[in-house]
Amino acid sequence: MGGNLSKHAKKVLVVGGGVGGPAVAIRMAERGVAVDLVDIETDWGAAGTGVTLSPLTARALCDLGFAEGLMAKGHLHDTLTMFSPAGEQVNEVQSPRLFSPDVPAEGGIMRPDLHLLMEQRMRALGVSIRTGTTVTALEQDDTGVDATFTDGTTGRYDLVIGADGLFSKVRDMIMPEAPKPWYTGQVCWRAQFKRPEEWRGARMYFGAIKVGFTPCSPEDMYMYLLQNVKEKPWIEEAELLPRLKALLAPFPALAFLRDAMDEATPIMARPLESVLLTDSWYAGRVILLGDAAHSTTPHLASGAGMAAEDAIVLVDELDREAGFEAAMQSFMARRLPRGELVVGNSIKLGQMEQEGAPAEEMQALMIETLHAIYEPY
Ligand SMILES: Cc1cc2nc3c(=O)[nH]c(=O)nc-3n(C[C@H](O)[C@H](O)[C@H](O)COP(=O)(O)OP(=O)(O)OC[C@H]3O[C@@H](n4cnc5c(N)ncnc54)[C@H](O)[C@@H]3O)c2cc1C
Repeated sequence: MGGNLSKHAKKVLVVGGGVGGPAVAIRMAERGVAVDLVDIETDWGAAGTGVTLSPLTARALCDLGFAEGLMAKGHLHDTLTMFSPAGEQVNEVQSPRLFSPDVPAEGGIMRPDLHLLMEQRMRALGVSIRTGTTVTALEQDDTGVDATFTDGTTGRYDLVIGADGLFSKVRDMIMPEAPKPWYTGQVCWRAQFKRPEEWRGARMYFGAIKVGFTPCSPEDMYMYLLQNVKEKPWIEEAELLPRLKALLAPFPALAFLRDAMDEATPIMARPLESVLLTDSWYAGRVILLGDAAHSTTPHLASGAGMAAEDAIVLVDELDREAGFEAAMQSFMARRLPRGELVVGNSIKLGQMEQEGAPAEEMQALMIETLHAIYEPY
């Protein structure tokens, strides 16, 4: 069987151009579907620090054709080494090369670089992209969806894909009763540094809190740190540097980075929120994917890969199944258990950190879950 995609979709609207939106646009356009993509941001894709590519994420992006791009613009490697705050090595995980023996297992890339790779591919495939634009209404019947846009235009589509992230407006439009994002009790701090030459793989330092490093270009790396904060905070720009320096104080092995940080160091702090739709991710011909359906915390560094996997599996099932409803049910059967595993165990890891669980227990759950998601999607 195969070749059913064009029966289900000749023209598709993708709302959101983060990771899942471009992934589904690329897969659909490669197979002859006409794709319109809108993103609300005018400065689309320009901002952001590094993103860690777990083996799952690296495989999904390589499956989409980005192996060379990731190796050229990002940094791919095979190991994750774990340390005590003083810098003693406590564990090392050798990650399997899931995509090909020639492509290292995992890595990192700057978000604007990943965005550019995906944007260039979409443009080459003829995807129509409108930024600073979104949908204001979606009206559907049995055969398609009428969309109205903020620029006053309208369009009719066979399918609409809501890939508009954690605070998805498409989700609000089609499933007003769906669960809402909730604050998980942690803030994720990120900062960018030049990479010490000998730091060639990913690193994590486990103390009362966790600090990690991912090389994300031939010269750069980014640091992430998870802080436990009971109520969702607002952190002023001027507070970022002194607060991050204070958070790093219990890590003697990282004193050299702490001392090197100044006003020019790019720092971001983001309270973590999550949402998981445990029922359905579609209503008629409007389908949610990525963070709009299952937004995880960064504990397994797999949110971007989960969005890309959703996109690949969705197109796979639409192509395989002759009936639209059957395709949607197969899509849910393949994706919901994985979403529950990744979101569920990421939240659990965050809770263990907040409860002060022993580092070995957290490492064990992390490694066990990573192994489970090495399975094909
Ligand atoms: C602090 C933090 C660190 C993370 N680190 C990692 C990591 O290291 N590795 C990893 O794999 N994952 C990480 N994640 C998760 C990852 O960022 C997401 O899972 C991933 O980006 C999801 O992709 P997406 O396409 O579903 O959504 P997004 O990437 O959020 O993209 C949504 C897009 O929709 C657009 N949009 C929003 N609203 C509208 C609207 N109304 N109309 C039109 N467009 C709209 C946005 O501008 C954006 O371009 C992290 C998340 C956080 C919060």
